[in-house]
Amino acid sequence: MVDPAECTIKVMCRFRPLNKSEVERGDKYIPKFTGEDQVSISGKPFMFDRVFGSNTTQEQMYKASAQKIVKDVLDGYNGTIFAFGQTSSGKTHTMEVSYFEIYLDRIKDLLDGMYCVLWHIVPWFSVPDEVMDTIDEGKSNRHVAVTNMNEHSSRSHSIFQINVKQENTATEQKLSGKLYLVDLAGSEKVGKTGAEGAVLEEAKNINKSLSALGNVISALAEGSTYVPYRDSKMTRILQDSLGGNCRTTMVICASPSAYNEAETKSTLMFGQRAK
Ligand code: ADP
Ligand code: MG
Repeated sequence: MVDPAECTIKVMCRFRPLNKSEVERGDKYIPKFTGEDQVSISGKPFMFDRVFGSNTTQEQMYKASAQKIVKDVLDGYNGTIFAFGQTSSGKTHTMEVSYFEIYLDRIKDLLDGMYCVLWHIVPWFSVPDEVMDTIDEGKSNRHVAVTNMNEHSSRSHSIFQINVKQENTATEQKLSGKLYLVDLAGSEKVGKTGAEGAVLEEAKNINKSLSALGNVISALAEGSTYVPYRDSKMTRILQDSLGGNCRTTMVICASPSAYNEAETKSTLMFGQRAK
């Protein structure tokens, strides 16, 4: 068993492949992978716990970033997995359905292997199919606004919570763990999207909450005695999974295209701060 007081924070970085329009435009592929834990952008090195190149599979990603957390949640710990990055960098691809199909299969496998286990996914559901439907539903209901990045940019954070409660009916021993899957709003700078009015206000709020999250994670990573949880709604909500008895992984998602170089550098810098 791991020490309950020990809070582990891991920061990983994943580059998606060049997409169709980037390839058609002839964009240069800029990341240089210089080791399992290092990537360079135009000669500037960035270190992470792990770095994943563009041909990383969902299965490999799951094993490296989520498997351990899922196991710990089943052992009664709280865990949070974040995806951070600009719009269209692969956050949702990394966090949602296909990835968590693997996750749910693993949970089922683990549960099948246990005896006398009751599991509830609260407060909404009791069976995995419904969870999958809800992830889909949540996805389609997310608040999106069109920006001139030629994409629907995610204008909100999406937080999915899974509570796992287990009871050994023979010994009456109870165990509960909580997992938060957080697909963060796009981290891109407002200037690039040409936002104004309400969208601009929204973008400012997003930037504020992302920087509050960065402050909390870097305080935790430094082992600081003061952690500014109360600076944003999101960090307040996630407080009990972001400190103390916790397992946290931040997946920094990035585009490999030269077109996004400035944004990619600031994304990687954010991840670096959390280390
Ligand atoms: P975000 O949630 O950060 O806005 P998405 O996850 O929606 O970005 O990804 C944008 C597009 O790129 C989607 O069409 C997605 O399928 C594709 N994509 C993202 N990451 C990968 C990857 N690692 N491999 C292949 N396609 C990817
Ligand atoms: Mg998304």
